Amino acid sequence: MKLLVIGCGGVATVAIHKCCQNPVFTEICIASRTISRCNALVEKLSPTANAKLTTAEVNADNLQELIALMKKFQPHTVLNVALPYQDLTIMEACLACGANYVDTANYEAENTDDPEWRAIYEKRCQEKGFTAYFDYSWQWAYQEKFQKAGLTALLGTGFDPGVTSVFTAYAQKHYFDEIHTIDILDCNGGDHGYPFATNFNPEINLREVSANGSYWENGHWIETKPMEIKREYDFDGVGKKEMYLLHHEEIESLAKNIPHVKRIRFFMTFGKSYLTHMQCLQNVGMLNTTPVLFEGKEIVPIKFLKALLPDPASLGARTVGKTNIGCIFTGIKDGKLKSLSIYNICDHQEAFKETGLQAISYTTGVPAMIGTALVASGVWNQAGVFNVEEFDPDPYMNMLNEYGLPWVVNDSPVLVD
Ligand code: NDP
Repeated sequence: MKLLVIGCGGVATVAIHKCCQNPVFTEICIASRTISRCNALVEKLSPTANAKLTTAEVNADNLQELIALMKKFQPHTVLNVALPYQDLTIMEACLACGANYVDTANYEAENTDDPEWRAIYEKRCQEKGFTAYFDYSWQWAYQEKFQKAGLTALLGTGFDPGVTSVFTAYAQKHYFDEIHTIDILDCNGGDHGYPFATNFNPEINLREVSANGSYWENGHWIETKPMEIKREYDFDGVGKKEMYLLHHEEIESLAKNIPHVKRIRFFMTFGKSYLTHMQCLQNVGMLNTTPVLFEGKEIVPIKFLKALLPDPASLGARTVGKTNIGCIFTGIKDGKLKSLSIYNICDHQEAFKETGLQAISYTTGVPAMIGTALVASGVWNQAGVFNVEEFDPDPYMNMLNEYGLPWVVNDSPVLVD
């Protein structure tokens, strides 16, 4: 099966490592903006890979370039692990060339000052009640086009979104008649030794974390100020950490796809140093996405900041500790109230030894490969646009165990108040 991977950053590197371990992929073309990174990865993986590996240079913002590449390579499936800004052009190219589409993050506009985009965004903020720059409406709008073309678009197969949504589908299938509450807890207990660095793309990470928080309750969104809701939780394998409520994209799809759910929240742990730096950078305008004129040249502050920060793909060697990411569910089974949690613990140094990347790239790249493999092999083969929780979770859960992200079920978890 021919796979085209777009992007060659931290997440892509792990996903491609893992694709090379899965015989379903016989030919893989790695295409990105900077071809030297693709060539370096091919050089590293070729001696042990069974799949034939090639590279290409592509600007995924340019539809015609994407179509030309896909016409030449003729992929069965495309894995988009570039940035959320490119989701729509890559989906369009897949439709034009008859390829399935897979990604790990929903569409986000790069230029949030574009008046046409802004008008749609402001209408959505009013109608839906949350102000994040990203939402699923843009990609769900392709449902009919993918159905008619007989192609699958699988959205959000990273860890969160991705594995956490599959955990939810698995809990729904095997443990509950009705799920009433879902708390998604993302704990990174790793330490890279820098005063400030982000563990995935800095621009996407800082835009997400500095935005308003929100959660879903009784059929509507409740929005909070950034970092307004804080809790402490004792994570298996990590210990006690402070975590903060964030808006996160899987809340939107789970609210749509999990019947009876009354509340969905997402919490992420942050250390004091990270929060203090982020606050300071925000206060001085370094997180702004609007260009400013500097010595006669236009620069976008957050892009300039990205250039100064450590590349997340370079953190692997120096990051120690573990992640613990998963979900806590409450609901009803056979007329009785019950609670349950499902989570994975991943060790940064183990991830580094295997792939050269830290656990955040690892926990995203492994499920990116799993979702892609399930689409590519036809195990998940409905035509249309789907979130991962809409398919049978069992084969995905088996592959998590097989490919390095084993999970644990706890039937008496401590709940978050
Ligand atoms: P990186 O910044 O490390 O890598 C992004 C890659 O995309 C780079 O190789 C970059 O090329 C390439 N790229 C960017 N723009 C273009 C373009 N216009 N055309 C072609 N290639 C382009 O990001 P990460 O690996 O950290 O993240 C990748 C994706 O994974 C993001 O969408 C992120 O949101 C998502 N993610 C999802 C998670 C989940 O759990 N669901 C968790 C973490 C991340 P260049 O080298 O030239 O910059």
